[in-house]
Amino acid sequence: MDRGASPVPKPSFALKRSTDGVPPCKATTTVVVGPMYARKTSYVAGWVAEQHAGRREVYVYKPSLDTRDGGTVRTHDGKHEFPAMPVDNFLVMNLSVPWSRLAIVVEEAQFFAPGVLKQLVTHQRMLETSFLIVGLPNDRHMQPFGTWLAEVLSMSPTHVVMKRGTCERCPNDAEFTAAHSDVIDPSKKIVPGSDGYFPLCRACMLEHMRDSL
Ligand SMILES: [Zn+2]
Repeated sequence: MDRGASPVPKPSFALKRSTDGVPPCKATTTVVVGPMYARKTSYVAGWVAEQHAGRREVYVYKPSLDTRDGGTVRTHDGKHEFPAMPVDNFLVMNLSVPWSRLAIVVEEAQFFAPGVLKQLVTHQRMLETSFLIVGLPNDRHMQPFGTWLAEVLSMSPTHVVMKRGTCERCPNDAEFTAAHSDVIDPSKKIVPGSDGYFPLCRACMLEHMRDSL
């Protein structure tokens, strides 16, 4: 057993493509923000394909707190599924791919501890690495979900994508994630993997919160 080794394992989970001979595409940092059920992981699927076309290998990470689906990330409709490595941080990364050939996806970014995402995008060795960082902007109380978004936006990403779901109570776009009142452990903000959440627009979310008091 390899005790004391890197918390970030070696690349058995990489989505591999040939990187021989052709320069990689330009490094970018993309932030994808939206509530649950906003098809964020479908966006990831398109981005992964772009990075492969641009001759980069893609590694997908998710917080170890997210125990859904084992070592994978899956769209709600089941159409896309990626191998994803659960981690607590990115302090040690022993990858066999050069940083300039690498593309990193971070799913459920809101569950990482303060400072972790900023470490990643300020890592000197990763200046030539492409990033896609995906997370929820708000918790079920319409409050900012941790510090991840502020950390990543402060590093001036090349692209910011705001995804919307469809409100479950009206035809409007949904920007927020609501919780059924009987499902939640009050000590938690949003529990990964729970079915007790649904997308709402701003007006319906305000009404839901009034009704939940
Ligand atoms: Zn609505």
